[in-house]
Amino acid sequence: MTAPVPLIAGNWKMNGLRASLSEAVAIAEGAKEAKGRVAICPPSLLIHQMCEMLAGSRVLVGGQDAHWDDFGAFTGDVSAQMLKDAGAQMVILGHSERRTGYRETDEIVSRKVQAALRAGLEPIVCVGETLEERNGGRALPVVTDQVRGSLPAELTGKPFSVAYEPVWAIGTGLTPTTAEIEEMHRAIRATLKEKFGAAGEGVAILYGGSVKPSNAEEILHAAEVGGALVGGASLKATDFLAIVNAL
Ligand code: PEP
Repeated sequence: MTAPVPLIAGNWKMNGLRASLSEAVAIAEGAKEAKGRVAICPPSLLIHQMCEMLAGSRVLVGGQDAHWDDFGAFTGDVSAQMLKDAGAQMVILGHSERRTGYRETDEIVSRKVQAALRAGLEPIVCVGETLEERNGGRALPVVTDQVRGSLPAELTGKPFSVAYEPVWAIGTGLTPTTAEIEEMHRAIRATLKEKFGAAGEGVAILYGGSVKPSNAEEILHAAEVGGALVGGASLKATDFLAIVNAL
């Protein structure tokens, strides 16, 4: 099993208007020589236009969430099929802001992952412990349980990534030590292999949580780190490209 190509994905969250598409164009321009894959996940209303503007570039476009059903009476929701139809290639699922703010359980995340794979999207499945769980010495079992519960039993060979995002590191400027990141990524790798056998080696494990130009190089070169999911620092092309170039 060959190692996965590293991925740097930007999560714009609920930020960005159509004017922000110029940042995406600047990212595409600056990412031409990137050593890995690069993705931007804007709010869903920008996906279609961003895909058109970035057509022919190497930057992939993704959603930030998707419903577990393909269509139906779910007012306000967007399905994976719709993201695909708008041009998206990937989707973030199980972000801690969804797990906390919308009470998404591992089971819900797993159903969303299946919907994304059905639609032909590449899921980025987020897991991570709270500060209380880390301080209580429970970070490893909490996160590995999330990995077990948030992924479907079988993979059907379609690609996906896991993003380890400690909840306490998101948007706070705090990050785990490199040793803590490596310990967690090794535990996630072992869990993926236990669940999927050799295919678990082919899954990129991204780190997310306060990645910025000043810490990107160290984090991206840590053992078992296969890229990054970047929030705040993905909104400005210069910052995001500095992270992409740290690969
Ligand atoms: C995120 O929300 O996925 C994230 C990693 O945010 P930030 O980089 O701002 O901590």
